[in-house]
Amino acid sequence: MYDKIYGLLRDTTPLLADCGILCNHRCCRGTEDEGMLLFPGERTTLDVRESEGRRLAVCEGQCNRNNRPLSCMLFPFFPLIGKDGKITIDFDFRGVYVCPLILNSDVTSFNRKFIKNALKAGKLLTKDDECRRFLEEITEEINEAKELYQKLKG
Ligand code: SF4
Ligand code: SF4
Repeated sequence: MYDKIYGLLRDTTPLLADCGILCNHRCCRGTEDEGMLLFPGERTTLDVRESEGRRLAVCEGQCNRNNRPLSCMLFPFFPLIGKDGKITIDFDFRGVYVCPLILNSDVTSFNRKFIKNALKAGKLLTKDDECRRFLEEITEEINEAKELYQKLKG
């Protein structure tokens, strides 16, 4: 399943230009204590740390782009799953203080091929029970992050 998903997203990016020039590649400037969340059963050649029952890939800002984890391929988006099981691609609000695109752009202005392929990837993930539960958990976290941000913003 992951080979298919990587095939959809490996060479397709949210913007046709390098958005890293906007922010000096902020989402790739983790430390050895931070990392990108791995999906259930996802393998990586990067170092992996356990945190609160989850696996994080730790990169210290460098990787072989072809082997970057799925979270990196998707960021700043995530396949959100609705109560009806429907997948939509929307901003990952957990990264609202990292990525300038989240507050300054609209999903429809991004590379349509990327959005379409991310949607296909999300649908593939729902076919696996563990991945579907993971999507549900992360969707809840993203919705909470969005609500919190909106409350703080007033
Ligand atoms: S933080 Fe956002 S704008 Fe910056 S490189 Fe990452 S995805 Fe692009
Ligand atoms: S694994 Fe690669 S794409 Fe992901 S945060 Fe690290 S350097 Fe960036």
